[in-house]
Amino acid sequence: MAWRLAVIGDPIAHTLSPLIQGKIMEKLGVEGDYAACHVRPEELGRFTEYARENLDGFNITIPHKSAVIPFLDEIDAYAQSCGAVNTVRVRDGKLCGFNTDGDGIRAALEQMGAPFAGSRVALLGAGGAARSICRKALDCGADAVRVFCRRPEQGEAILPAGSRGEVLPFSALSAETCGAWADIIINATPLGMSGTAADFAGFSFLDGGRPAVCDIVYKPAETSLLKACRERGLVCRNGLGMLVYQAVYAFRIFTGLSFDEDDLAVFLLRRGLTSRGEGAGTAG
Ligand code: NAP
Repeated sequence: MAWRLAVIGDPIAHTLSPLIQGKIMEKLGVEGDYAACHVRPEELGRFTEYARENLDGFNITIPHKSAVIPFLDEIDAYAQSCGAVNTVRVRDGKLCGFNTDGDGIRAALEQMGAPFAGSRVALLGAGGAARSICRKALDCGADAVRVFCRRPEQGEAILPAGSRGEVLPFSALSAETCGAWADIIINATPLGMSGTAADFAGFSFLDGGRPAVCDIVYKPAETSLLKACRERGLVCRNGLGMLVYQAVYAFRIFTGLSFDEDDLAVFLLRRGLTSRGEGAGTAG
């Protein structure tokens, strides 16, 4: 069968999903089409009705990850806890929502030798991506999650009351509160991303220990945060691992096919995406 898949967003031109999903189908020898669709907020309802009849699944990016929920027939428990869906499976005209971002970061960290279980996690930022990461870290048995953010109410919204962790102001980032405390540091802010002027004011917050660091930004391949990690000899990766793993898990949800997710992701990261110069960009 030829799978009928898509990604929707507004804007959508920047997305790497068609490249990644195309490579997944090529590698698995599966036929299908994965289209990038520009869907504006007011078109979301009409798109989901179209999808019921004409697609096997679709991914969702900014700004529809939460807005799509009322249009779905079912939503899985983890996506519900994130309040965001990035993957919708269409079966028998029914739409079922999932969120693969959390498993994307979990698997990327495991590949770095830095599993959530038993770890102290410093999470920078408290937006949509941070929420998925925070829930997954707690679900996977992280010892504690320390959320650093500018607005405390945003941090408290992603760290459920009574859970293992605390919210600190972004301005409290230091060697003592972060580098010396954490086993894993994850940047889930856009700081250092291509096209944004903002970057970290300094990197002394990395000092005092040997944390593994994941910057979920992947453009540029080496952000200033990753350069600072490399100079300190810390194990670190950019966000391409998370991006590729979430795509691999989404493809599994769309199709129900069985394949080795790690083999496929590692292939894509090492060789599969290099045709457009999108290498793994790893450091450390
Ligand atoms: P978002 O919902 O807009 O959240 C961004 C977070 O960063 C907010 O907590 C925001 O705080 C904070 N922030 C922004 N500028 C800051 C600054 N100058 N100093 C301190 N904190 C700042 O965005 P998102 O969807 O979570 O995405 C965040 C980043 O992750 C983006 O760069 C995105 O491309 C990347 N991402 C990567 C993947 C992947 O698969 N690798 C997946 C999802 C997202 P305020 O609300 O106070 O501004």
